[in-house]
Amino acid sequence: MTRRQRRALASICETFVEGAVDAGVPDALLELTPRSDRRALLALLSVWDVGGRFSRRSRDAREAALRAWRDSAIPARRRVYHGLRRGTLIPFHARTEPEQTAGPAAPPRLRPLHPEGDTQLSCDVCVVGSGAGGGVAAAVLAEAGLDVVVLEAGAHHEDRDFGGVELDAYRRLYYESAAPTSIDGGIGLLAGRCVGGTTVVNYTTSFRTPDAIRAEWGEPFTSREYDASLEAVCTRLGVNTDEGLPSSRDRAMARGLERLGWHVAEMPRNTRGCEQGAICGRCGFGCPLGAKQSTLVTWLVDADAAGARVVPSTRATRVVVASGRARGVEAETTSGGRVTVGARAVVAAAGALNTPVLLERSGVGGGHVGKHLHLHPTTGVCGVFEEEIRPWEGTLQALYSDQHAELGDGYGLKYETAPVHPGVLAAFAPWEDARQSRDLLARLPHLSGIGLLLRDRSEGEVQTTRAGEPRVRYRLNDADIANVRIGLDGAARIFEAAGAREIFSSHAQWTAYTPAAGRRAAFLAAADAAGYGPGRCTFYSFHLMGSARSGASPSASVTGPTGETWSTRGLYVMDGSSFPSASGVNPMITIEATAHLNARRLAAELT
Ligand SMILES: Cc1cc2nc3c(=O)[nH]c(=O)nc-3n(C[C@H](O)[C@H](O)[C@H](O)COP(=O)(O)OP(=O)(O)OC[C@H]3O[C@@H](n4cnc5c(N)ncnc54)[C@H](O)[C@@H]3O)c2cc1C
Repeated sequence: MTRRQRRALASICETFVEGAVDAGVPDALLELTPRSDRRALLALLSVWDVGGRFSRRSRDAREAALRAWRDSAIPARRRVYHGLRRGTLIPFHARTEPEQTAGPAAPPRLRPLHPEGDTQLSCDVCVVGSGAGGGVAAAVLAEAGLDVVVLEAGAHHEDRDFGGVELDAYRRLYYESAAPTSIDGGIGLLAGRCVGGTTVVNYTTSFRTPDAIRAEWGEPFTSREYDASLEAVCTRLGVNTDEGLPSSRDRAMARGLERLGWHVAEMPRNTRGCEQGAICGRCGFGCPLGAKQSTLVTWLVDADAAGARVVPSTRATRVVVASGRARGVEAETTSGGRVTVGARAVVAAAGALNTPVLLERSGVGGGHVGKHLHLHPTTGVCGVFEEEIRPWEGTLQALYSDQHAELGDGYGLKYETAPVHPGVLAAFAPWEDARQSRDLLARLPHLSGIGLLLRDRSEGEVQTTRAGEPRVRYRLNDADIANVRIGLDGAARIFEAAGAREIFSSHAQWTAYTPAAGRRAAFLAAADAAGYGPGRCTFYSFHLMGSARSGASPSASVTGPTGETWSTRGLYVMDGSSFPSASGVNPMITIEATAHLNARRLAAELT
């Protein structure tokens, strides 16, 4: 950064929160800005403060200037505002050291391969990605006696690296430090980037594919073989409802649900020996106890034991195709080495952002690659309570409600809670000025959140930039916004019934009320006035699906029901991209069961 850029950025960060510069936030902001946005940010900073026209103004004037960008009619300005807001407030607040540590960690479970320099490997099947889909596929194929190489773009971490400081986890374990959004900034995109993929950072909620979704999707989801794969996956992951001690967040939500007479039920979870307390609340930063049954501690261990080679920090760049058949994969390591893998078959399991990019870069997959992206857009409502909630602690997710899961044609939303760490609150909460923001963060111990997890009809698209990176277009349609609104009202009612003193939404503008007769209607009217478009209300996606979907015909899908691409024999998709539409429930078990079934079929073909 030039001196002028640095001065502008320092002044912006200090306007959002006093003390930002001393805390090293400007450098962190730049580091956390997605690579594709960095040049534009620096260009903006060059002109932001010419002649001190921002930094020399009073605090009130600078705060008003930032709010003007927040409320701008120009979406690009709102996107810049939120990038700066999140880029300042998350690094500033997400630095808390854990109050409790987990004790000595288990020894590493995997023996990964670290290629030095340029390397050539050959195998039966090359699996790209080691998350929910790739981990399962690798184990099933290796246990069938096939020689398997797993390429994983992220680094290899184990229990001893997990559960630490929030910001470190975003940097080390999340795709692009958890900072990417859709092009218009309307929705944040969260995915893991490490050996084990998103299953390392996820919240352990383990719903089987609902019967109605299976019926909607048809073959192979309605088959007996799919039943068997669901069973095998849930057994391997130890899915249970015994390790679900409700956190105070869950208890507050359940109290409200019960008083309203609404549905509430226990979450099935994939844990063995979960602590269900302060440590569990930090397991979105990886589970330091090895209790979360991610692919890192289950399927990849099985694959490793059966002889599979797991290659971390190695990103697949292209599938090698000859005579219409996949022959292998080209990849590069983070240290710049080239890795070439020759294979009889290739499994793309790089997640719904990167699988379509891999196919696109390889010139395969057809016209539906990247299309039909679903995101389960999630926004939050918070309640402030008299009693202490300590929302960062306790079981990741223990209870949920399907009260509004069916709002028509199988679409609707789930109510779930998840740990609220300072960085999470900073990401979702409105900012009016530095003082309001600081006061809100200070109230965190008394605050609880309910997430509205929407089954979306809206379809987005993953495009591939010239630099070969994913870029997401996504916009909520009116039908989905109508359901979000029902969820907003529902969550407010739950918190009212639970006894919250104040309730606020995740709109960019502070939208809140103190419960009393008739006030909720005014709150909803204010929420409507603030809007749900990009930059008006915060949404994140935790579930990326459908961008290389399976189907019955090449005219509408990328793969057939077995996961093999219509365009290229021997090339399979086995991850969340393969979903025919949004699953409506947290998708890990469905991804794993589908990969299990299709990997078994592939193994039978190759052996
Ligand atoms: C915070 C959070 C909480 C969640 N909680 C839950 C939950 O409780 N229950 C649930 O069901 N779901 C949950 N999910 C979602 C769930 O974990 C994911 O949907 C699932 O893991 C996706 O599986 P996947 O195989 O499609 O991709 P991933 O698990 O993301 O795996 C893809 C892997 O491919 C790697 N990769 C990408 N590109 C390349 C490349 N070019 N070359 C090599 N490797 C590459 C990535 O680094 C990654 O490791 C959560 C998600 C998040 C972000």
